[in-house]
Amino acid sequence: MPRPWTLAQAPDFVHLASVTYLDIIVFHDEIALRTLFHGFVHATQMALLGVDRYTDLYVRGFVKSRSWIAIPLEAQAYQLDTRFAMSPTASFSVEDEVSSWAQQGRY
Ligand SMILES: [Zn+2]
Repeated sequence: MPRPWTLAQAPDFVHLASVTYLDIIVFHDEIALRTLFHGFVHATQMALLGVDRYTDLYVRGFVKSRSWIAIPLEAQAYQLDTRFAMSPTASFSVEDEVSSWAQQGRY
């Protein structure tokens, strides 16, 4: 039987670099391009999936993984912000990446 999750495993919003609310990205400190890109990925996920589905997938991902970093929506955002940071001038479509993950049921 899985152990219950606790609030201690929840994201620490006070110490996160940014939090995305629909199409608004709130920063706790100086805006870094990589953090801005991470928020852009979440805004794209919300726009394409819809807020209800995004929220459902986020909560389900957290309950399943018990780690907010392992939530597939976060894993993708970190994967894409890393890709951006490694090669900022390389071109790729966040919309295509999000659509692909959604079609493959990876969330
Ligand atoms: Zn994130």
